[in-house]
Amino acid sequence: MSTGSRPFRLRNTLTGRVEPFSPARPREVRMYTCGLTVYARGHIGNFRTFVAQDVLRRFLRFKGYRVVQAMNFTDVDDKTIRGANEAGLPLRQYTDRFIGQFFDDADALGIERAEHNPRATDPRYIKAMAALVERLLEKGIAYRADGSVYFRVAAFPAYGRLSGAGASDRIAGARVDSDEYDKEHAHDFALWKAAKPDEPSWPASFGRGRPGWHLECSAMGLELLGSDFDLHCGGVDLVFPHHENEIAQSEAATGKPFVRHWFHCEHLLVEGRKMSKSLGNQFTVRDLLDEGFSAAAMRHLLAGVHYRQQLNFTRAGLRQAQVAIGRVNAFLARSDRAGGGAEAGDGTAEDAEVAGALDRFEAALDDDLNTSRALAEVFFALKQGNRALHQQGAAGGTGAAPWAAAIRRMNEVIGSFELGKETSDRAVGGERDEQEAPSGLAPELLSRIEERAEARRRRDFARADAIRDELAQEGILLEDGPRGTTWRRP
Ligand code: AMP
Ligand code: ZN
Repeated sequence: MSTGSRPFRLRNTLTGRVEPFSPARPREVRMYTCGLTVYARGHIGNFRTFVAQDVLRRFLRFKGYRVVQAMNFTDVDDKTIRGANEAGLPLRQYTDRFIGQFFDDADALGIERAEHNPRATDPRYIKAMAALVERLLEKGIAYRADGSVYFRVAAFPAYGRLSGAGASDRIAGARVDSDEYDKEHAHDFALWKAAKPDEPSWPASFGRGRPGWHLECSAMGLELLGSDFDLHCGGVDLVFPHHENEIAQSEAATGKPFVRHWFHCEHLLVEGRKMSKSLGNQFTVRDLLDEGFSAAAMRHLLAGVHYRQQLNFTRAGLRQAQVAIGRVNAFLARSDRAGGGAEAGDGTAEDAEVAGALDRFEAALDDDLNTSRALAEVFFALKQGNRALHQQGAAGGTGAAPWAAAIRRMNEVIGSFELGKETSDRAVGGERDEQEAPSGLAPELLSRIEERAEARRRRDFARADAIRDELAQEGILLEDGPRGTTWRRP
């Protein structure tokens, strides 16, 4: 398709402007996305940012770039150490569980796997972190105090460039860690924290200890992507101090630019309120699946709001998303059944219309990844496609197929339509296509699974759980997934 000379414009937090995205290498994008801190299952807010990053990644691929993405796991920091100690588990064993759950949820949401998923505690990266600290010590930009190593912010004049004018206030008011009382200045930050008896630690030439969070991402990014890589992404809460500190320590150590373009996603609120443990509104993807919502609806809601706007996540919004997806999926299935070549290009007026919709879709995303405007083109194509199907019924034409193909092309970026279809051959309930019949199960058992799906739709979770337990007794295990419920025998 034609991308013309129109550049992809994306806001860069570093300049505060929406500007042409220009990777260092012609057809390749090197991208680092700060990943989950694995002390709990990721919540729906985390996944707002991860879905936004996935849409960005998919759009770059849509435009023909090869993407090399590194998404880390923060598997050593104050929270993971505290959690592991409380659970009485070795750190690795404790964090493994949440990493597994992250992949379950990310896969359900159709988030493409990154090329690299580094864990901070991997010996390769611990070594890279220690090497960075050594370089900073040699250059006199880092200093040792009481077994820890700190970054001397005053030695890096460009400090504050990313987070802007507000940074100096925030630095002045920043909380000083109680274990960092030996710093020269309150705003200096720990690169390496001295070993403590109840914490994991690693040997290093400058003393046994563990890396600070900021150092972890700098080292993993530089190790896997090199200097001057193209994109660094995260939620807005990471701009300061995390990303500001990453820039400082990386550029001070290498003497080269660290990252070309910084992408930050606004936060998600739940029913208009910030998520918090005390409000009990910190939902996970799993919680919402258990309530009977599909992962496709979650993705649709998360992807459909522009990444620079706060997203108010509501159950009403999820239900609307579910309906919208159902309409599109039903059209795609009907169009497939009606047949007709998906290839546009014999020069009809309709082909030009389809090409126009695809171009407007791409133009919306070229404009700072405007997903809500892009989605409007999906629904325009749906309207045209349904109209063509209708006419097709009467006149026997094949006009719906190019619209279906256009929607599928758009869905390479949006990702919420037909999500989970390929794994749904044993789906019963949820967004099951009417055509799909689960096989190998007695009709009596099937009707009880249906009855449970119905109970879930009524939100009668007690009844649903009771049916699940009865079936388990009979050797049928139910699993609720992105496309509804699947069964298996243990
Ligand atoms: P964390 O596990 O806290 O390191 O966060 C993982 C990612 O989720 C980071 O990019 C955060 O900025 C992002 N994040 C955390 N909370 C939210 C939220 N409420 N809305 C959107 N993104 C969030
Ligand atoms: Zn990070």
